[in-house]
Amino acid sequence: MRAAEEPSEAQQEGEPAITALRELLGDRLSTAPSVRELHGRDESSLPPSPPDAVAFPATTAEVAAIVEICARQATPIIPFGAGSSLEGHVIATRGGVSLDTQLMDSIGRPRVEDLDVTVQAGVRRKTLEQRLGGEGLFFSVDPGADASLGGMAATGASGTTTVRYGTMRENVLDMEVVLADGRVIHTGTRARKSSAGYDLTHLFIGSEGTLGIITELTLRVRAIPEAVSSAVCSFPSVDAAVATAIATVQAGVPIARCELLDATMMRAVNEHSGLDHPEAPTLFLEFHGTPAGVEEEVRYVAELARERGGGDFAWASRTEERNRLWRARHNAYFAALGLRPGCRALSTDVCVPLSELASCIERTFADVERLPFPAPLVGHVADGNFHLLLLIDPDDADERRVAEAFYDRLVESAIRTGGTCTGEHGVGLGKRRRLGDEAGPAIEVMRALKQALDPAGLLNPDKVVTPDGP
Ligand SMILES: Cc1cc2nc3c(=O)[nH]c(=O)nc-3n(C[C@H](O)[C@H](O)[C@H](O)COP(=O)(O)OP(=O)(O)OC[C@H]3O[C@@H](n4cnc5c(N)ncnc54)[C@H](O)[C@@H]3O)c2cc1C
Repeated sequence: MRAAEEPSEAQQEGEPAITALRELLGDRLSTAPSVRELHGRDESSLPPSPPDAVAFPATTAEVAAIVEICARQATPIIPFGAGSSLEGHVIATRGGVSLDTQLMDSIGRPRVEDLDVTVQAGVRRKTLEQRLGGEGLFFSVDPGADASLGGMAATGASGTTTVRYGTMRENVLDMEVVLADGRVIHTGTRARKSSAGYDLTHLFIGSEGTLGIITELTLRVRAIPEAVSSAVCSFPSVDAAVATAIATVQAGVPIARCELLDATMMRAVNEHSGLDHPEAPTLFLEFHGTPAGVEEEVRYVAELARERGGGDFAWASRTEERNRLWRARHNAYFAALGLRPGCRALSTDVCVPLSELASCIERTFADVERLPFPAPLVGHVADGNFHLLLLIDPDDADERRVAEAFYDRLVESAIRTGGTCTGEHGVGLGKRRRLGDEAGPAIEVMRALKQALDPAGLLNPDKVVTPDGP
């Protein structure tokens, strides 16, 4: 992979695409090494590779014009939101142009009666939260990172509230997409349901910038619940915490958040966020509803926890305390990095049917004990989804080999029990081979879709599927 300090071959040759893009965008096209470098890496431990240039369009028309210029010159385009993805999604393996959506940041007036809002793709999650909060509304998908809505749709993101409100797949009604030849389409309508033809919205969600560029999204929003209560509860074992989460879901309790952190992760979070919770397996819980409904749910879940050896609930009822608690949970990734200064995290992301979760975690923990580096666990366990952060020395090839072999065993065990290699982070570069193992012959259908929509292979090349290999 290439470094950003040197002008790339494309720049040295005064590549026509870059000249034409400069004419279109002026100083909203950058070839500065620092800007290129920033756009050639994500949060993964995969080696970075910078694009030749970074374009900052502001409108759909400009995105279409960029795509047409790049198509004429056979220049790859890599859509870029906030760069918070974890599988090498934005790494410019073949150079080309990174299309950064940060200037596409306008938010339409929320339609309160319809409970929807239309936003440009570069709008960040936290900005939307602030804007909707003023109207008594919220958008439910919360991956923790301050990601862009376009990036969240492109990765099929989910997060801590998915158990109650669903993933991006359940919360996007329509998208405007620029195709590889510059045509602009809508994938749906504002209607809550539709039987009109193929479901293009769900095709583009999770397509990771490989089928088209999302320029605008219409999102489902919800009224902020009247009562919200958050609590943490520690357990004598991971098994007991997982059993409580599963019993809660199986009982049909509409819990809003149910997150597991193991003892190692709790130590990291306490240190990073200045908290003093017991260093034991812990569930972070949140309840939404009417005051009476929340009270009843809390009583029910507290009893389920007590029966499984859980301690008393430590409450965070005021907004400030709640925010502090969930900030600590969301910072778990960075807190974990603090356990081994200088390390990078290889984050696993399997998701299994609920009935298989306890045994999958048990098998995994037996395997973790043999690892030569820390591997704290954090999980959206009520969805059957958990992450181990394998804290490896990026310069130690042996550690990476051990981590990859461990990851293969974990994915194999998840797939064998009806699960998936990625619950929410997506495939990117890092999980292509694992997608092949999971999808079987369906990978050919994915390749056919890619070929139909991007025959020249210019949209985010080398991600998700390639024409002839994993
Ligand atoms: C600390 C931390 C915690 C995280 N927790 C979660 C979590 O709980 N759940 C979860 O789902 N993810 C999580 N992630 C991963 C990440 O935040 C999500 O994948 C997020 O959706 C990526 O959005 P982004 O704007 O950063 O996209 P980017 O990283 O910029 O891009 C991601 C992919 O989407 C494509 N893309 C971006 N914008 C567009 C567009 N407009 N049109 C077409 N393609 C586009 C890119 O080409 C790339 O393939 C976490 C990441 C971190 C660092």
